Amino acid sequence: MARVRRGLIRYVVVVLDLSEAAAQSDLKPSRAHAYAGALLRFCREFFETNPLSQLALLTLSDRQAVRLVELTSNPQDIADKLSGLTQRPSGFFSAQAALDKAFEVLHNLPPYGLKEAFLLLSSLGSHDAGDIQDVLEKLSQSKIRVSIVGLGGQVQMFRKLAETTSGTYHVPVGEGALQEIVLGYCQPPPTNAQQTQASLVHMGFPSRRLDISAFSFLGPQCTPGAGGCTCPRCHARVPDLPCKCHLCGLTLMSSAHLAKSYHLLFPVPPFADERQNKPGESPERGEAHHHMTCTGCSKPLFRNMCQKRVKSEAIRSEATGIQMKKRQANEPPATTEDDDGIAAECPDCRSLLCMECDEFIHERIHNCPGCELVRGNS
Ligand SMILES: [Zn+2]
Ligand SMILES: [Zn+2]
Ligand SMILES: [Zn+2]
Repeated sequence: MARVRRGLIRYVVVVLDLSEAAAQSDLKPSRAHAYAGALLRFCREFFETNPLSQLALLTLSDRQAVRLVELTSNPQDIADKLSGLTQRPSGFFSAQAALDKAFEVLHNLPPYGLKEAFLLLSSLGSHDAGDIQDVLEKLSQSKIRVSIVGLGGQVQMFRKLAETTSGTYHVPVGEGALQEIVLGYCQPPPTNAQQTQASLVHMGFPSRRLDISAFSFLGPQCTPGAGGCTCPRCHARVPDLPCKCHLCGLTLMSSAHLAKSYHLLFPVPPFADERQNKPGESPERGEAHHHMTCTGCSKPLFRNMCQKRVKSEAIRSEATGIQMKKRQANEPPATTEDDDGIAAECPDCRSLLCMECDEFIHERIHNCPGCELVRGNS
């Protein structure tokens, strides 16, 4: 059986359908607005999950596709265009025009990246000038996947498009489902050796030289501006990372991007819930927990348990024990007891961590401090 892989580098062309059907108001205020809202969230999350990937945005109205944003690794480029989008939905949709334009963007890209077209459709049909079958063949040959989200109902032709190119086809019902499906597309799709070949990729790691504040010509458009990075091979200036050098074609990125992708592919395993009084747990282990601190931030764990014990010892040593017990009975019960009684345990290094550190490790740093300590000591 072929091993399933996840693409590290993805090139995705998003096509937003702005034909007449996008003006329908079954989603408020219109389908086009609902898609634009979902897309805004999508592009932010996409670059978090796929730091080495690039997105382009096309719109389609009057059977013509227009490139709104060229392939970029900067979510702000897409957000700016989307929020300033004044184009009104008009005319018919053409799947052929959309896919032809997507093919134009994708077919020359390197074979190690996953090439995908992501269609956000409101129309229930397609008005094509030529034969869609020809486009389909071109796409399959260039290994471009077509994934489609279509409102209003299932369309056999769209289903066939997605199936032939190993993409997905979803018909969301309601705005909540729409957002969920669009965001779900951030996860790299599974692939195998036939679809994307493994190859060595030349990469350059330009240093952001802070001393360069003078204006220079940035990117393929030679926009004058400050900042940017210098390609280590040909010394061209590029505005953002990651990208492909517009002069020598070298893939440029920062080491942080590479580290982030690595951690997303090999995530820290989920930590197990460790409560102070697990049923069936031996009292010795529970006792040991009283002296535990969090491996991440050194905060004492099971604090309330300790406080409770100190309090009960004080009560016992008090001569007027009965009075104290009475007073304690009048006190309000400790409401946070349960929260402090929970810690998380890393299944690899068995170190205990507080809930804040658990969240921080899984969502931000993607490294377990306990495991790193073990690795450092060995
Ligand atoms: Zn270069
Ligand atoms: Zn902690
Ligand atoms: Zn660990």
